[in-house]
Amino acid sequence: MDMTTLAQIGYLVSAILFVFGLKRLGSPATARGGNQLASLAMLVAIVSTIVEYGILDWRTVALGMVVGGLIGAVLARTVKMTAMPELVGLFNGMGGGASAVVATAEFYSLLGGSGVMPEGAMSVDVGLTIFLATLIGSVTFSGSFVAFGKLNGMVPGRPLTFPLQKTVSGLLFLGLIGIIGWQLSGAATSAPYLAVTGIALLLGILLVVPIGGADMPVVISLLNSYSGLAASAAGFVIGNPILIIAGALVGASGLILTNLMCKAMNRSLANVAFGAFGTDSTAAKKLAAGERPVRDVDAEQAALVLAYAQSVIVVPGYGLAVAQSQHELRKVADLLGERGVDVRYAIHPVAGRMPGHMNVLLAEADVPYDRLFDLDEINGEFASTDVVLIVGANDVVNPAARDPESVIAGMPILDVDRARQVIVMKRSLSPGFAGIDNDLFYMDKTMMFFGDAKASMSDLVREVREA
Ligand code: NDP
Repeated sequence: MDMTTLAQIGYLVSAILFVFGLKRLGSPATARGGNQLASLAMLVAIVSTIVEYGILDWRTVALGMVVGGLIGAVLARTVKMTAMPELVGLFNGMGGGASAVVATAEFYSLLGGSGVMPEGAMSVDVGLTIFLATLIGSVTFSGSFVAFGKLNGMVPGRPLTFPLQKTVSGLLFLGLIGIIGWQLSGAATSAPYLAVTGIALLLGILLVVPIGGADMPVVISLLNSYSGLAASAAGFVIGNPILIIAGALVGASGLILTNLMCKAMNRSLANVAFGAFGTDSTAAKKLAAGERPVRDVDAEQAALVLAYAQSVIVVPGYGLAVAQSQHELRKVADLLGERGVDVRYAIHPVAGRMPGHMNVLLAEADVPYDRLFDLDEINGEFASTDVVLIVGANDVVNPAARDPESVIAGMPILDVDRARQVIVMKRSLSPGFAGIDNDLFYMDKTMMFFGDAKASMSDLVREVREA
């Protein structure tokens, strides 16, 4: 069997592994295995590429894999869960950049050493794929770095706008098309290519700076999809089938995820891109002066309410991730379970700051998967539930979503206010991501258990044990 056939078989195996890996990522119970399958698929793809092209010394590639693998392993071990969106943003940027570099290498190999494009050296179809990979890859590269900077505070999180911003971006885009046409119609220099790369990098920045830092997870998911499209285009450039397939899978899944996130917030992608959401602090200021009375409880009172309930639904939110109190939460749930209380978890699709955030946190604490229920599965159960324990969640349980005038109007929420009693663990009455007040806190059935969720949860463990 010759090397090309062997490599093609490798690509096929890799594509199948990628598809099964993705499928397994669909459930928390199988996600870890899915990730391992996808890693194996990547390894098979790399080895097959080395076998097929034979252009690089395998030792160079192995060195690259060891260095890259080590960096990845250290990052995966040390990154905080709440910083995961930033890390994904950085990875997307690298992916987009790598595709642009592949396309650039191909362009310069056509150009040859003379620096003058020989007549007919670049056909229109090859040229188009090179430009597509460069364009999308460069936009993804610079856009992802701005998103990364916004999330970790290196770039101001507020939307940065200037007059005629959209017009300037539109004109730059039109200019790009013109310059690409110039190169494809037979320009002999590399100037148009370099101009396209520069403008695409600028466009990536201009597209992301006007979006508020709070919306970055959605932007990152969209850029993730772009990085896949760029990789796919780069696959066409060098005629590598697995790059085309893997890129298409990333492109499609990134788009599906972006769509799901927008739906779960009941917002359109255009609203995310131009809406400057979550940045208005007026609501927060109004709240600071808030005079509405609430009923607050301490750990002992909360423990008694929980210990004597028959059914409890826990609603985790962003505050659980900030406080990292998932292990204590698990202990409370175990103690309640030992007393015969039925404890379940309600998972809202956009609770936290990234898709699957709560699933990952609870998996870390080994909460059994069969105790986790999606919004649709559990919403009908609240009315017959004794106590809902909300840990650092706010928007996802805010009844304001039922008010057509609210900024979160129409966002699907967990109907916790239908339960008999509600305990809310958070530090203050401050709003969450959407920046709006939450009527739930002021209801007669609601008990506010103020404090950092980690400290409060530790107290709760002790009190439930003694109850
Ligand atoms: P929210 O952002 O609505 O609220 C989180 C609450 O946690 C805050 O009100 C805060 O209150 C509390 N909190 C913060 N730190 C602590 C702590 N150490 N201990 C206890 N409580 C704490 O979170 P939700 O999860 O309810 O909702 C997620 C929001 O994020 C939604 O609006 C969603 O649309 C949005 N979003 C989600 C994305 C995703 O993919 N998951 C992506 C982009 C946006 P206090 O300061 O008083 O403690």
